[in-house]
Amino acid sequence: MFKPFSALTALVLIAACAGETTPPVTENANSSEEAAPVPVYPLALPEATSVEITEEDLAVRIRTLADDAFEGRGPGSEAGEKAADWIAAEMERLGLQPGGEDGTWFQTVGMVDQTVDEAASGLTFSGGESDRDYPMVLKEDAVIWTKHQEETELSFSDSEVVFVGYGVVAPEYGWDDYAGLDVEGKTVVMLVNDPGFATEDPDLFKGKAMTYYGRWTYKFEEAARQGATAAIVVHETAPASYGWDVVANSWSGAQADLVRADGGAERALLEGWITVETARKLFAEGGLDFEDMKFAAKQTGFTPVDMGGLTASGEIQQTVSRATSRNVIGVLPGTEAPDEYMLFTAHWDHLGKKSEDRTGAPGQDFYRDDIFNGAVDNATGSAALLEIAEAMAAGEHPRSAIFVSVTLEESGLLGSAYYAENPTVPLSQVVAGINMDGMLPLGRSKNMVVIGYGASELEDRLAAVLETQDRIIEPDPNPQAGYFYRSDHVSFAKEGVPMLYADGGQDLLDGGVATGKAASEVYTVQRYHKPMDEYSTDWDLSGMVEDVTALYTVGRDIADSGDWPEWYDGNEFKAIREASLAEAQE
Ligand SMILES: [Zn+2]
Repeated sequence: MFKPFSALTALVLIAACAGETTPPVTENANSSEEAAPVPVYPLALPEATSVEITEEDLAVRIRTLADDAFEGRGPGSEAGEKAADWIAAEMERLGLQPGGEDGTWFQTVGMVDQTVDEAASGLTFSGGESDRDYPMVLKEDAVIWTKHQEETELSFSDSEVVFVGYGVVAPEYGWDDYAGLDVEGKTVVMLVNDPGFATEDPDLFKGKAMTYYGRWTYKFEEAARQGATAAIVVHETAPASYGWDVVANSWSGAQADLVRADGGAERALLEGWITVETARKLFAEGGLDFEDMKFAAKQTGFTPVDMGGLTASGEIQQTVSRATSRNVIGVLPGTEAPDEYMLFTAHWDHLGKKSEDRTGAPGQDFYRDDIFNGAVDNATGSAALLEIAEAMAAGEHPRSAIFVSVTLEESGLLGSAYYAENPTVPLSQVVAGINMDGMLPLGRSKNMVVIGYGASELEDRLAAVLETQDRIIEPDPNPQAGYFYRSDHVSFAKEGVPMLYADGGQDLLDGGVATGKAASEVYTVQRYHKPMDEYSTDWDLSGMVEDVTALYTVGRDIADSGDWPEWYDGNEFKAIREASLAEAQE
């Protein structure tokens, strides 16, 4: 996930690492003569692959993309961008057509890296009942950053602090945490997740299942819309579904973002998280009780609460560097309705090479090297995307298929956000999409898990296909964690496109749920976002073949039909879709 997590995808494998490299070549024999082939050094394209979805085809692509030669596919890095070249060359070999800028395979994505100088930056609360100053110890009490990309020095002082509950404005739920308050110039403090999580009332928001309003990304976007000078989210492990260590790690070091047209000027000057312990102290200083305020925040009709005389002052010194990365886009034109598209997505980027110390705890040897190979995350999804393209290219389909291999997912879904804001085909002509991120080689399972289950008719189609495989669909086991919002499909969903994100389940044919669950935890602890996420010839890809076949079948059937699958009634993206289709009709 970008940052803390990427999706449920966190399932497992137990394997020794592989990583043998293949000799470099310069030319791929299968490409068409006219267009100059994309260079594929340092790794060759597969000698031959079949139009069927097979373990061998998946294995050769996963092994290649997870090879040390691509140095963990860091976006904007020389070795990382070579992985994008390789994917483009593979699309060319499979007979797709370039779908990027100016007839190329690529869409350039401008990015910035912002690094806060923690020694010269700070956030201090003052003016409370004890009239003491509370300078935040960064990483311990708080993490801070800015989305302003132009300035290297930013500061504000004596900004009034206001508690705005969950910081949500949701007209469809009749909810407005900013009701009646102008927060221009103020500092807003808010809770993570949404009132539905807090009350578990299925009629409030989506009950336990996190809505986009529960995501920290939404809260900072809304605080910016409201004009706040600083926006602070209180971290609590249960509603966030991760510990403070994840927050401290994720927001340390360089933070990537898209180059923003306004340089990020419309965002709050300072954004950050504070620990719940810090929050309790600050609320007390404001003459309030944190638990009482939490209780008030989940009540319908909540209105913002002034935190006594508490004020905030902040200063950020940062370095800003700029780079570019690329989305890779291939198209398979339809024969009858070529301007209607079935979309497939998967991110190619991962964490690259990291220079931070590798010591780790004694015995924890998964810090054996400094390359984050990203075999599961997301060489598997990228291999699945190419394998589906190959199967689709073996036949003709009335509608077009578009394959978008996005960059910068690990930095905040930036490549897909950029594509969704700058689509190479109108999104109103994209019938539906399927995203693949982190498919675990567990062997065959009796089920597939749909992240964000209960969203669209795509699930009915998947359920029907799984039935032919004698398998069943399983709802997201952790809806409160909001995994639906943590991979690239959400960038398209936010523009209205019905998106499916499903993965192999944990109910294994061999060993059942117990084995599946146990294997998941091992992966999450040992390999997820660590150098040990490496490919191994031990991998059992039989389950992945079934999962990819199911997703391919759902997509192919839509490309062969005239149907327009829809979001279910009440879904938060349905209105956006209806508006975008209506606009396209005008
Ligand atoms: Zn991923």
